[in-house]
Amino acid sequence: MRLQAVKGTADRLPADQPRWRRLHEVARRVLERAGVQELTPPVFEFAEVFERSVGEAADLVVQKEMYTFDDRGGRRLTLRPEFTASVLRAYVEHGMHTWPSPVKLWSHGPAFRAENVQRGRFRQFHQVNLEVVGSAEPVADAEAIALFVDILRELGLTGVRVALGSVGDPDDRARYNAYLRDALAPRAGELTETSQERLRLNPMRLLDAKDPGDRALIAGLARPLDRLGDPARAHFDAVAGYLRAWEVPFDVDPAIVRGLDYYRRTAFEIHAEGIGAQSALGGGGRYDGLVAQLGGPDVPGIGWAFGVERVLDALAQADLAAPEAEGPALYLVPMDDEAVGEVAHLARRLRARQRVEHGYVKRAPGKGLRDADRAGARYAGLIGARERAEGTVQLKHLATGVQRSVPLADLADALERPESIAEPATQEV
Ligand code: AMP
Repeated sequence: MRLQAVKGTADRLPADQPRWRRLHEVARRVLERAGVQELTPPVFEFAEVFERSVGEAADLVVQKEMYTFDDRGGRRLTLRPEFTASVLRAYVEHGMHTWPSPVKLWSHGPAFRAENVQRGRFRQFHQVNLEVVGSAEPVADAEAIALFVDILRELGLTGVRVALGSVGDPDDRARYNAYLRDALAPRAGELTETSQERLRLNPMRLLDAKDPGDRALIAGLARPLDRLGDPARAHFDAVAGYLRAWEVPFDVDPAIVRGLDYYRRTAFEIHAEGIGAQSALGGGGRYDGLVAQLGGPDVPGIGWAFGVERVLDALAQADLAAPEAEGPALYLVPMDDEAVGEVAHLARRLRARQRVEHGYVKRAPGKGLRDADRAGARYAGLIGARERAEGTVQLKHLATGVQRSVPLADLADALERPESIAEPATQEV
């Protein structure tokens, strides 16, 4: 068998790294300026952490998607399919309810789901995740949503759509589920198998159905937002009011539901144009009750996650120039065997301030210059017998071809003041 990466996983190659790095830098800047602290939970947890968080009526689809295995000690472990349960487990474990409230935490890293692989749907993917724990105020919801939009905007992504809805309070949800069961009972047999299962376990999730037949059956029914109780309605109106006042563009989406059972009130998704069927960049919502479900105090929270691959895909579709990978400031060429150790030593010293690379075997000047060019270097530095004797390096600015002899002692400074070298040529090698 030819060894290759598992389907649904991908290597992130050197050329991909600048885009990824930039995305994380922007997310970090936007979030940390808002007082969000970074938390790095482990990649796997006891299976129970996720099982408890998805709840009794857990969608079997969700359960089946988890990578759960027994380790050699017989422990049932799960590779995280998302961050929320891990972050809240850590919140409880470290007594963060005693920290100044709300506790705002962000995380990033891989997540794992045993899904059918397609564009935008992988088995190992990456998320940036935010949780704001300890506030039930609508302003916390609005701030969280606005931060998500701020990150996308700062990345340069326009043409994104915030879809805002509400799944109501637990009572509203129970009433709505009962309504759906009643309304669909006469024709339940016509639903797809998955939708029948949802109708039994968690009817509200039927609204996520993709099958056209299922969609036709539910098309005329009331949506969760139409059936909110007064407190959830007031909360929704307040969140929408803040977003309007802050000029965060959004559409009300009465049918929005989230995959997991623990959501309360606010539920939202952010979609981008042009990235195909899997257009959700991310989503989130409020999960009052989940911390208690995980064995902690009864504190409310709101959070979101976005898929890094999807945001990068949307950026690529929007034709936003990826940052160029930069080459070294200097590429040193040894022109004889004695110079090999010398250029390596010089490179080690210069690396305190600059990125410097070098050849590992002696090279004729022409070939050495070609090596420097292929490395993407700004300068080539050639060292042979004469340079060693003089304590100099022949420094060539590759873009202009300007070349001069620079004393080793001045080299570090010269690299930082390029204009001092890219001036009239003096001598040729
Ligand atoms: P969810 O927890 O399902 O709401 O996922 C949040 C975000 O993570 C989604 O909107 C996607 O951007 C991303 N995501 C979820 N599942 C996958 C997957 N299998 N492959 C790639 N991205 C995903």
